[in-house]
Amino acid sequence: MRELTNIINASTMNDPLSGAINTPIQLSSTFNQKSFDDFGQYDYARSGNPTREAGENAIAQLEHGKYGYLFSTGMAAISSILFTLSAGDHIIVSKHVYGGTFRVLEDILPHWGITHDFVDFSDLDAIETAIKPETKVLYIETPSNPVLNITDIRAVVKIAKKHQLLTIADNTFLSPFLQNPLDLGVDIVVHSATKFLAGHSDILAGAVVVNDKKLADKIYFIQNAVGATLSVFDTWLLLRGIKTLGVRMTQSSSSAQKIAEHLSNHAAVSNVLYPGLKRHQRYETHMAQAKNGGAVLSFDVGSQENARIVVEALKIPAFSVSLGAVETIISYPPKMSHAELNAEELVACGITPGLLRLSVGLEDADDLIADLDAALALIQ
Ligand SMILES: *Cc1c(COP(=O)(O)O)cnc(C)c1O
Repeated sequence: MRELTNIINASTMNDPLSGAINTPIQLSSTFNQKSFDDFGQYDYARSGNPTREAGENAIAQLEHGKYGYLFSTGMAAISSILFTLSAGDHIIVSKHVYGGTFRVLEDILPHWGITHDFVDFSDLDAIETAIKPETKVLYIETPSNPVLNITDIRAVVKIAKKHQLLTIADNTFLSPFLQNPLDLGVDIVVHSATKFLAGHSDILAGAVVVNDKKLADKIYFIQNAVGATLSVFDTWLLLRGIKTLGVRMTQSSSSAQKIAEHLSNHAAVSNVLYPGLKRHQRYETHMAQAKNGGAVLSFDVGSQENARIVVEALKIPAFSVSLGAVETIISYPPKMSHAELNAEELVACGITPGLLRLSVGLEDADDLIADLDAALALIQ
């Protein structure tokens, strides 16, 4: 089955009771049991309910995995997988990891004796050097936020297998339509389904997909024990969003490519970070593991003052945090997603003072380009 068909197949159904094409919203926290001795499939909705299960099967199918789990947010999903670790365990994490993940690793897990090191994942030797006897996990995020650094997923998996480590990949930035880390040998894929999967800036959601039954059992145990599950209503909205994932990603990434190429030739833009550009340092690596450059790009307008002028002049994009929606969103990472980093840390991550991140939505690409040109004209 090709991906566009797979998406519709995964997100629609034939309800056995009514024939409904859309998954019924089963608002019930508890379920009647058949008899004193014979319990049915569902008992209490935190442990499982038919709506969430339909969503979990859908996300598993999209990521070409066997077992899917839905959480209340991306951070709930990421935290829940990290809860499978024990005191004394060590994690090696891509240096450009999402800010919320950084916070859990830095400020929560060390209290429980779980430690980490941040490593530049484009440097494979550095990963190997950082491995300690107590290392358990290599944590990948590619493309990274907001500088669109690329990690060679297959190469990291190879290192992990050699040292018997688990690999986790945050696949939020590309969605399962453009990249499938499980196919490349990754053990656990995680998503902020708030972004492209849901796609409409309406809900918060997180997803985890694995192939290994033992790992699946561990994650299910934590999902049920901790209880950060996705609500029934939000699961329904997520399934609704997923139905158009393919067409949204195709449109948004084609516009992003066009915008990235346009900005690359713009005198007011000193740098464009987008893995769909042939001159991106890791273009070949990226294209060997993903379908295209994705729908997010970052560009540098030289200074914070210029960034302010551009943002204030733009008419189409929403100026906000988050990404992966039908509307184009522009954000200023140093003051938004990466506000916790000091000036030195920002520079170390490649987040220059003039850097703007653009998550391209479904508006006409030429309208977006005209809007950007009008705004950029003010700083030339
Ligand atoms: C947004 C995001 C998260 C966190 O997800 P929430 O749904 O906001 O909790 C994790 N990873 C990446 C790459 C993200 O963009």
